[in-house]
Parts: sequence; structure tokens; C-alpha cells
Amino acid sequence: MSVNNLEAFIVAFVRQEVARAGTETRYRQPLVGFAMADDPLFLRLREIAEPTHLLPGDLLPTARSVVSFFLPFAEEVVEANRAARRQVAREWALAYVETNALINRIAQGLIAALAERGVRAAAEPATHNWNPETLVSRWSHKSVAAIAGLGSFGLHHMLITDAGCAGRFGSVVVEAELPPTSGPGVADRVRCRYLHDGSCMTCVQRCPVGALTKDGLDKRRCYRWLLQVAEAFGDLGLADVCGKCATGPCATECAL
Ligand code: SF4
Ligand code: SF4
Repeated sequence: MSVNNLEAFIVAFVRQEVARAGTETRYRQPLVGFAMADDPLFLRLREIAEPTHLLPGDLLPTARSVVSFFLPFAEEVVEANRAARRQVAREWALAYVETNALINRIAQGLIAALAERGVRAAAEPATHNWNPETLVSRWSHKSVAAIAGLGSFGLHHMLITDAGCAGRFGSVVVEAELPPTSGPGVADRVRCRYLHDGSCMTCVQRCPVGALTKDGLDKRRCYRWLLQVAEAFGDLGLADVCGKCATGPCATECAL
């Protein structure tokens, strides 16, 4: 299969899997991007985020590219979490659990579909693959998406894409060479109002436990709250999620 055909196949695969997901959660159109496996930004992740962060070659020694995808929640999911003042909306908690499972299904399905076409691929789980001491993932799907040019970080430490930040990221490492969607300036494009001109701060104002300030994110304070939320939604599975900071003007679109 040619590179162009493979690229189109992967984009269509992700969109089709989301369209037929069978989840209660609904989604907007997924975004798909590609990064080179030897992009120096992967090494930079080790320096700036987590020294033990994996490289594409750790997942697959023959890795040439990384596929990144973003599954943006439907407006109604965002609106439900925006409307619930302090408590996390059930719709949001469910979206988190269902989407993590969906991302794993997409990744495994894509690995199998590519294998049928003679292309090896590998993936890390959608979430809960972090270092318990630092709460930093050994493979951050969000950072991979930034390297693939899908978005840039906002004050809330989340990635703002052209479809906003309300959703979940997944990624798959493949041994085929795919044209990167990143490039000079793409990851640096500012999409956050605060980082642009010091305005907004909606994410900070909406944080129910004061974990997010303009000076940074207190991950432990945030995670303590997420564990309380998980208890409240124990019937859904592991819903350690909040996302109040993802309901501002950058929730469903680029804020600028
Ligand atoms: S809510 Fe406002 S300040 Fe916070 S990340 Fe989004 S655009 Fe930036
Ligand atoms: S997820 Fe919730 S607790 Fe954590 S920083 Fe965002 S708003 Fe605050």
C-alpha cells in the first residue's frame, strides 16, 4: 500500500471506528495526525516531562512514524460538565470511561488491520500508565499529539486542538513512514487566550479545588479530587476524572 493510501486508510479507520463505537457518549469528528518516530521532540519529552518517558522505538524497534488521534466529545457532554457547578457531570465521567475503552479498541483494531497489510504497529494503553510518584505518564498520548502538530498546550496544561481540548487522545506507533503533520511553528501556535494576551483564566476559575493557578498545576491536589470523583461514580468503572478546566472557551474550538 502506498504512503498516501496508508495515510488515508488510517484516517478513515479511526473515523469509522468512532462512528460505529456504540457508546452512549457521542463525538465530534476525530482529528488524526502523524509524527516522525525520530522527531527530536520525543527526546525532549524525557528532559522536560519524565526521564523514563518511552520513545517510539521502545514500543516498536522498527518504528518510523507515530499516529496520533483526538476523539472530541460532543457539545452536549461539554455542556453537561459546564452546567454542573462543582460536581463532575455523569455524562463527562461516562465519556472518560467509554472513550478510554474506545481508544484501546481503535489502537488494537488498527494494529490488527495494519498487520493484515504487512505493517507492524504497537500501542500503549489509553491511560493509567503513569509513574505513581510523579503522576507523569511513561507514554503521554497528549504530548505525542503535540509532537504530531494536533494542538498546543494551554494554561490548563491540556492540549488545545482545532476541535478544542474536551476529548481524549490516543496513539499508535507504526513501522511505515507517513508524512508528518507537524512542522516548524505548528506546535508553537498559541491557542490559549491567557498565553496570548493574559486574558480568560476560565480554567483556573472553574477548578473546584484550587489545583490550577496561573503559576502551575498542583498534580497531587488535582489527583486527590479525581479519586473522590471516581468513588462517586464507582458504578462506571475507573472514572478518576474532572475536566472542569476543559469547559472554557477552548473546550470545543481553538480559543483564538
Ligand atoms: S480556559 Fe482560557 S486561559 Fe484556560 S486554557 Fe482555555 S483559553 Fe487558556
Ligand atoms: S481536572 Fe479538575 S481538579 Fe484537576 S486541574 Fe482541572 S479543574 Fe482542577
